[in-house]
Amino acid sequence: MSKLAKEYSNLGFDPEEIRAKYKAERDKRLRVDGNEQYVEVKDDFAHYIEDPYVERLERDPIESETEVVIIGGGFGGLLAGARFQQAGITDVRIIEAGGDFGGTWYWNRYPGAQCDIEAYCYLPLLEELNYMPKEKYSYAPEIYSHSQRIAETFNLYDGAIFQTRVTDLRWDEDSARWHISTDREDTISARFVVMATGPLNRPKLPAIPGLADFEGHTFHTSRWDYEYTGGDHNGNLTGLEDKRVAVIGTGATTIQSVPYVAKHAKQLYLFQRTPSSVDLRGNKPTDEEWFESLEPGWQKARRQNFDAMVTGQPVEQDLVNDGWTEIFRLFASMAPKPGEAEVSMDEMVELVELADMRKMNGIRERVNEIVEDDSTAEVLKPWYRQFCKRPTFNDEYLPTFNRPNVSLIDTSDEQGVERITSKGVVVGGVEYEVDCIIYATGFEVGTSYTRRAGYEITGRDGRTLSEYWGEGLKTFHGYSINGFPNCFQVGLGQNGFSANLTAVLDDQAQHVSYLINEIRSRGARYAEPTEEAEAGWVETIRSLAAVNIAFFDACTPGYYNNEGKIATEGGGIQGESYAPGANAFNALLTTWREAGELEGLDLTY
Ligand code: NDP
Repeated sequence: MSKLAKEYSNLGFDPEEIRAKYKAERDKRLRVDGNEQYVEVKDDFAHYIEDPYVERLERDPIESETEVVIIGGGFGGLLAGARFQQAGITDVRIIEAGGDFGGTWYWNRYPGAQCDIEAYCYLPLLEELNYMPKEKYSYAPEIYSHSQRIAETFNLYDGAIFQTRVTDLRWDEDSARWHISTDREDTISARFVVMATGPLNRPKLPAIPGLADFEGHTFHTSRWDYEYTGGDHNGNLTGLEDKRVAVIGTGATTIQSVPYVAKHAKQLYLFQRTPSSVDLRGNKPTDEEWFESLEPGWQKARRQNFDAMVTGQPVEQDLVNDGWTEIFRLFASMAPKPGEAEVSMDEMVELVELADMRKMNGIRERVNEIVEDDSTAEVLKPWYRQFCKRPTFNDEYLPTFNRPNVSLIDTSDEQGVERITSKGVVVGGVEYEVDCIIYATGFEVGTSYTRRAGYEITGRDGRTLSEYWGEGLKTFHGYSINGFPNCFQVGLGQNGFSANLTAVLDDQAQHVSYLINEIRSRGARYAEPTEEAEAGWVETIRSLAAVNIAFFDACTPGYYNNEGKIATEGGGIQGESYAPGANAFNALLTTWREAGELEGLDLTY
């Protein structure tokens, strides 16, 4: 009997039934308007992104000439700054919209905020900073402090320009410099620019009819209004005790924050379109003895091990051993052992799918075990493959639905909340009157880069990035763009994706350090990729993307699959990545650097 036939004979469920259910649930949620279903947070909605954490600091405009400007002070900018320091690139300024470093961890301070990726992989530079995370999964305040620790250690506060948004970036051929304008009237020029504005920096709102009509209180989770709710990251939201609260959205942010809201609100209505998969958290304090026993180089090895696991590559041991890597542990137990007959690639793909079904059956069973009301439990079950959406891990979310003051409102038949009125939220013709609406509706991903960054970039010969990327991303290795000399993009897009984004950013920071130093030491004024090299890289991305695109096209809509349009329009976080994954991408870049030819880059002297 073949490996696959053996698995089928032992399943205890019907895969065809599950496939049909996945498809039906996906089709039900697929909207023709894709990203257009969201509204840009500006003009009448601009208050949703004001900084509630610091007073605006008045200051005179800055005029400055510098070697490197980094735009963004989240982990992308911090790691670039840190790695540049280590590489001897010290004349660096970091421009950041927030009042401090931290990026996503500066803005997202909602109660219960935590990182779902194991801290030993996620928190960068642990060995360099000799820092031991408190727990396996860090809470936001620890991560925020860690970002400040990086800035202090690498003297990044010296060149920091906070509470400042870049408004324009323009290349000047004569001086071979970038001119950077800001909303503080600064005029800063730089020889190199690193754009590190992050993939999830721009909160979005659903364009629900009546959005502006609501007369109660409202905010987005990425600007949590503790003045209204009371309390802090640890909860104690006593300001909600006499309030009826609506929360819209059930992604990773809600899974973590809603238990705190439910504990204090007089009444909570949670509006769900697609349920998240909610797995066991199982957090635990770091074992000091174990941590001290780790050998130098352990963090890089652990990150690589994690990436190998989640891309299905063979490893000797699953070091992280959590809910992210479980499907692949299941798969490994099903795959042929040494000495057994090999299976074909198609059979391998099917075995992974069966492992996924087992995993998701477990997730759905967990809902049954915890949620007492059967009809609520049914609505909370996710019907898609685990990595179709960002999986979540939490031990308090599901028990929340056993509270008498909590109602789950399913909006899937309406493809989302129907209407907002002056008094509340309407679904299925029923108006839920509330005092406060909290939008947990995520961030722009599929819109244009310049819209998300908040500034236009004009390169050589007046070419704007909006025009150049009008019909899709074009980069060389994800970092550099033809016609935009000495400008580097770090983050996601045409490079190796990992759920552990800080590892990606760290590898990128080291690669860009190498590029800058090579351009300088070779005496070039600037470098940019040739048209051919860029076209070749785009072709590489596209030709390898087919398997990824097929996987995500079958998924329920979300930002991973460009709201269901990945097959027709490309894009989405998963549509533009180097499909073999972060480890393979890093290996490719290592070979490229070792060749020492800067092949594909054009240096101008
Ligand atoms: P998401 O984009 O994941 O979730 C937005 C939610 O809003 C979805 O549930 C979406 O439903 C819902 N929604 C959108 N429009 C409507 C509508 N018209 N009516 C009803 N519901 C609507 O945002 P999050 O802030 O939760 O998370 C964003 C990302 O940030 C995560 O995916 C993760 O990458 C990261 N993050 C990581 C955390 C961690 O490590 N722990 C914690 C928090 C965030 P639908 O799914 O149907 O579109």
